[in-house]
Amino acid sequence: SADTAMYHAKAVGRNNLQFYTLGLEQALLERVQLVADLRHALVAEQFVLHYQPQFDAATGRLDAVEALLRWRHPAQGWVAPGRFIPVAEQSGLIGDIGAWVLGQACRQWRQWYEQTGRPDLRVAVNLSAAQLASDGFIEQVDHLLRWHGMPPECLELEITESMLMEDVEQNVERLGALRERGVKLAIDDFGTGYSSLSYLRVLPIDALKLDRSFVHGVETDAGNAAICKSIIALAHNLGLHVVAEGVETEAQRAFLLSQGCDRLQGYLLARPMPPAELRQHAAFP
Ligand code: C2E
Ligand code: MG
Ligand code: MG
Ligand code: MG
Repeated sequence: SADTAMYHAKAVGRNNLQFYTLGLEQALLERVQLVADLRHALVAEQFVLHYQPQFDAATGRLDAVEALLRWRHPAQGWVAPGRFIPVAEQSGLIGDIGAWVLGQACRQWRQWYEQTGRPDLRVAVNLSAAQLASDGFIEQVDHLLRWHGMPPECLELEITESMLMEDVEQNVERLGALRERGVKLAIDDFGTGYSSLSYLRVLPIDALKLDRSFVHGVETDAGNAAICKSIIALAHNLGLHVVAEGVETEAQRAFLLSQGCDRLQGYLLARPMPPAELRQHAAFP
């Protein structure tokens, strides 16, 4: 891949000029092309949001839906977020793309509210560090909530652990301002980043999302089961909710339930889907 080529080129350095040139050139070309395509994707309306339900573990009730960005590339077809989100972050495009995601998710909430009359569905949106750090982010959230008549509690923002650790002081302040308004905050992929547990006490958050790598392990690996168990206990002791992601089997669900996990998300329960399909889902209000 482009990243591997870049890495190799750097590692090999100038001693191997031929490899350096070939690897770097190809990597750069691919990267430049992807950035150009990505820049064009917003105006060309190639982005859509899919939504994956999160269920209350105890009652099975639909509690929230996570907005997941999908890019339909005109030549390559669907490109996975794992491939283009990092590029968007490195190229600075994540600001505009993230703003579109947030606006679109809030607009979708409003549409559901008008269709169902139920104001209590929560929409979770993934946030990049650059978005949270950007000037005017809080105002953007304020504006969207006001514009759509959306209760702040219906918006949940997910931020990965590693992103939060980039500038803890500023992030704590920003998150605090959001939380004061009633917006819900969750740490995504918890357990995979460089987590300093002492930060958990100062971060103004509501929930931890247990990374799916641990969830997958619970069936086969006693160590992973112990990690899941411990994270759930830790979160509860700190007054936080726990959302398990990537729940794929009955055994995983049973284990998480037995440990008092609050919310479940995963293919076993529902896949990410376009809004039209979500409305047909049995659990949708
Ligand atoms: P994430 O926020 O941790 O989202 C959960 C990912 O796990 C999604 O992948 C979802 O489709 C996948 N998933 C859900 N249930 C299961 C399951 O049971 N098994 C397995 N194997 N996977 C499951 P997706 O949609 O490919 O997104 C990947 C990542 O891209 C997200 O991870 C998130 O970090 C990022 N991302 C997606 N949309 C956005 C966005 O709008 N903004 C930002 N900044 N990042 C986004
Ligand atoms: Mg997420
Ligand atoms: Mg996650
Ligand atoms: Mg994850």
